[in-house]
Parts: sequence; structure tokens; C-alpha cells
Amino acid sequence: MTSISGSAELEFLTRLQRILGEGLFSASYKYALLLSLAELSIEQSIAPDGTLRIELDELAERFITLYWRQVAPFKGRILAQNAGRQASIISKISAFKSAAPTLAVARNRTQWPRLVREVGRLLVEMPLWKLQRVGEERLDFLYEERLVDRGIVLRPGIAACFRSQFPIVQALVQTAWLSFVQRLPLNRSILGPTSELGEFLFGSERSGLKLVADGLRNVQGGSCFYCMERIRDGGAVDHFIPWSRYPLDLGHNFVLTHASCNQDKRDMLAATGHLQRWLERNDTQAAVLDEIFDAARFPFDADASLSVAEWAYENAERAGALVWVRRNGQTSRLTAEWRGCFK
Ligand SMILES: [Zn+2]
Repeated sequence: MTSISGSAELEFLTRLQRILGEGLFSASYKYALLLSLAELSIEQSIAPDGTLRIELDELAERFITLYWRQVAPFKGRILAQNAGRQASIISKISAFKSAAPTLAVARNRTQWPRLVREVGRLLVEMPLWKLQRVGEERLDFLYEERLVDRGIVLRPGIAACFRSQFPIVQALVQTAWLSFVQRLPLNRSILGPTSELGEFLFGSERSGLKLVADGLRNVQGGSCFYCMERIRDGGAVDHFIPWSRYPLDLGHNFVLTHASCNQDKRDMLAATGHLQRWLERNDTQAAVLDEIFDAARFPFDADASLSVAEWAYENAERAGALVWVRRNGQTSRLTAEWRGCFK
């Protein structure tokens, strides 16, 4: 058993959060890949040098297993797992499932090895060499990006981190996966226009949100908090500190934005300029905001919101995270400059 230090684990989680928060996700494959790696790290023996070799076929089988339940219909339809057309892996697995009701039956079918091979090929084509990329950067900390005898090798200490941090890894990945599936346009007709599946499961009372939105519209003079252009439709209520980073549903954490700005920001923190304006808004409009939240019977606590923001930016700076600047995926590296906002 290889021992690892607490700082190695923190480093591991920090990088994992960067992948989840800043990586590009056009399909849900990367989530399934991460969960597969985490599970296989627990189930298999780590080599004396701390590495773990995983056969491509094993990885593919685990991948199929994870998607197996997800190809079942949800409210009568199979949920999309891809931003464009349905993910091809979903089509393959779902076709296979129609002739094999359970995974055990499926594994015994003569065509099973072929499905595994096809999924293995997809893994190599799609997520395997993309997972560790964040913007132009290659984090490259989980495994070396090449096949060695039709397998990959987890770097020393990585399998141990997956083991010791498994509950956290699982929670992070599942939360990110859930919100990805919710946001896909193809799923809106199934989940409804206000796809609140996650809120329903984990969220707090959201009944006052419409009133908060109306109040924020007045405070912001009808424009988007981020790009400051006019909002012509209902807009979107954005968590300034993303829900995935800290599940905070306190009034001050909300800003009104374009739906497109909200979508584009995803799970990133906003750049320092936005932080500055957010702090100023909470300060100069304190009385108005209190009134809005009160009238909507929405919980609020300015100091708590402030502490959480400081904590989130502190962590992000330590991680060397990218922060969101404006629509069309414009990001920048968070520098220590943000600290000036809290002085
Ligand atoms: Zn906007």
C-alpha cells in the first residue's frame, strides 16, 4: 500500500475540479471516464511503484456499465448525453440493451466483446486524450496520454488518491454530470423549461426566485449583470458563486443575466471585474436588496455570502483556475488581484 500525503490529495482534487469546472464538455463521456477510473482504482491492485495499469477493454466495460442504467427511458424518453446529436455510445448501448434486458444477460451474449471493442475505440477517439485538457493547457496528471499494450497507466499515487477521495470524487463528478444533462437543449422537452432536477433533489426552496428576478431587474436597470447589455426576455438568475462550488442559495449570491451569459459561465467563477461590481452592488444597494429578499421571503445573509465568495476565490487562485470574462467562452487566469476587492 503506497501512502500519500495530504497535500498530494489536495492537489489531486484541485486539478480534478479544474477539469470539471473549466474543461469543455460536449458529451458526458468525460464524467463516465472519471467515474470508471475511480471505481477501477478501488477494485484493482495498485503496483508497488504506486501506478495502476488499466486495460482498455476493462475501461470500456465499466463505461458501458455506467451508461447501462442511463439508457433506460426517463419520463418515456432516453435523455440526451450530447450537445449535438445523441451520443453514439448511447445509441450503441441502447440498441444492445433492447436485445438483452440485464447487464448479466448482455455480458453472456456472443456480440458483447464486439460492443466492448467498439466502445474502447470510441474511448480512444473521444475522451481519453481530451479529459486532461483545460483550454490550451494539458494537466496530464492522471495518466500518460498514450496506449501501452492496449491499456493506460495511472501515474504513481493517482489510484491511491482515487481510493482515499472516492466519495468526494463521486459527488463532484455526479453533480457535474447531472447539471450537464440538465442543461442540454435536447433534454428540455423532457425535463421541462425550468429543468430543476438537481434543485428538486438537493436544492433549497426556490419559490421566491421569480420575485427576486424582478427585483434584480430593477436594481440592474434592466441589463445583464455581466455584459451589461439589455435583457430582452426573462433572463436567467445566475449563482454568482456557482452552485457546484458551493451550494449557496442566499439572496446576495444571485445576479440577473442573459440566459446565454449564464450558460456560458457554466461552473466557473466570474473574473475580478465582475467580483468588484458584485461587491459594490451588495454594498451600495444593501437596503434595496434586503427589501427585495424580504418581500420574496428569500433567505439572505450578506456576510455569509461574502465569506463564501472569499473562500471560493482563495481556492481558485491556489488552483491557478481560469475565471469567466464574457460570452463565447472568454476566460482569463485568476491572479491575486481579486484580493484587492476585499480590502
Ligand atoms: Zn449578458
